[in-house]
Amino acid sequence: MQVISTADQLEPFSGCAFVPTMGALHEGHLALIRCARKTGKPVVVSVFVNPTQFGPNEDFTKYPRQLERDLELAQSAGAVAVFAPDVDVMYPPGVDVTVPELPGVATQPKLEDHHRASHFAGVCQVVARLFDLVKPSAAVFGEKDYQQLLVIRALVANEAPRFSALQIVALPTVREADGLAMSSRNVYLSEVDRKRALALSRALKLAQGAASPEQAEQQMVSELTSHDLTVDYAAVRDAETLMPIANFSRPARALIAARVGSVRLIDNAAVGPTD
Ligand code: AMP
Repeated sequence: MQVISTADQLEPFSGCAFVPTMGALHEGHLALIRCARKTGKPVVVSVFVNPTQFGPNEDFTKYPRQLERDLELAQSAGAVAVFAPDVDVMYPPGVDVTVPELPGVATQPKLEDHHRASHFAGVCQVVARLFDLVKPSAAVFGEKDYQQLLVIRALVANEAPRFSALQIVALPTVREADGLAMSSRNVYLSEVDRKRALALSRALKLAQGAASPEQAEQQMVSELTSHDLTVDYAAVRDAETLMPIANFSRPARALIAARVGSVRLIDNAAVGPTD
């Protein structure tokens, strides 16, 4: 497996299957790599903790960084190359790396954008830059970051024909045996908070059994707050547009962002009719 850090070194991998990450790889990331292999294309993984998607009071500096371990894991899952650029390669001094126009799904009220104001601008900036550098034919993203997945699909559509040859593939969330969605941020959790964090997946289960979006939201908030989690949002939305909905007449998604102590976790699940 090759470890590369410059744009020139990426040239032979044009047309690859691409898995963008911020590193601290776990089974969820490895499942994306295995899924990418199914395209039959060589798999390139990027490891880049993108400063532009973190707010000033967020965890950019303490975000877990463990490149050596990531390289071993990426290789074991079948990647042919890891692209681990310095910030100057992604954002060369003096070069204006444009921020694409934000798709509407990024700014649906009271979801991520409400709590992380410039987050999706940073995500769109880094993903568009990575797509331009890597030139993949497919890119695999996790449903774990459901709103991000929809934002990237919309970005690719909005920027046509720039990324028209690129297929976006989605992979369901990979969970620990007890239901906790795998996340690089789970390493921040103390033993006690790790148990409290299970309230997120339990709340989603409750939402799946609810009779209406309103009831689902109430049950999620109640489950989360009864374990002393601070709820940023616990919402049921249209699964494609993330617009608020009054009933389960269309595919819907329950989305949660909640803080366990100082650790902010997100999770989501399909609710209502699934076809
Ligand atoms: P990150 O390194 O957290 O920026 O995530 C990189 C990619 O891995 C994104 O497409 C995430 O949605 C995906 N991902 C993160 N955690 C999981 C998980 N538990 N299951 C599936 N995909 C995941």
